Amino acid sequence: MSVDDLFDSIDTGILEHKQSKKVSRVVDEDTVTERLHKMFGEKVPVKVVGCLTDHIKKCSPSAVGAVYKGTIWLQNNAEDFSDYHEAFHYVFKYLMPKSLRNVILRGAKHKLKELYGEDFAENASERRLEEAGAELCRLYFQKKSNIPSDQRRPFDFIRDLNTLYKEVGSVRLQILYMIMNSGLLRFAKFRTDPAMDTEPSMRIQVRNANF
Ligand SMILES: [Zn+2]
Repeated sequence: MSVDDLFDSIDTGILEHKQSKKVSRVVDEDTVTERLHKMFGEKVPVKVVGCLTDHIKKCSPSAVGAVYKGTIWLQNNAEDFSDYHEAFHYVFKYLMPKSLRNVILRGAKHKLKELYGEDFAENASERRLEEAGAELCRLYFQKKSNIPSDQRRPFDFIRDLNTLYKEVGSVRLQILYMIMNSGLLRFAKFRTDPAMDTEPSMRIQVRNANF
């Protein structure tokens, strides 16, 4: 099974669980705006809305967060800390130099190859690797916030990925998360013009029966 297959199988399971599980803490507009402004400065618009698809037509119906045309969007029923997931996409899409992006992606692929073989590594698309980095970013900040473990949403796949990235070079990812946390990105220049952004990066909220 490839990384892409794993993600796809999660996506398929989402809607089934969506109704049955309640999110213990959802995003609060003031909190996420404050956190994201601390990270990026006020140049980054943050919008919390009732339904993403009303605003971003390209969004999947199960998406709860998105980065699109320089704005961070969150649906008001998104789980708390989804803002950090989107923040990672923001950095990856607009700020991070391509060379650094490639270092991170190459490191991840290299480790995947070592752990699971060449086929597995070759099947992992950049989009999926970015998605994993974004989800790990959310978990990193969620853990840092000392939320009691029973209110976290660990699920096996992400735990696996977490372990994977820990072994991978997550030194690099962790440094990136630390830079995000430091507020230094308020001074970063755009590498890519958000106005040219044609595809939203999203967060699909996953519900896990074992949670
Ligand atoms: Zn995402």
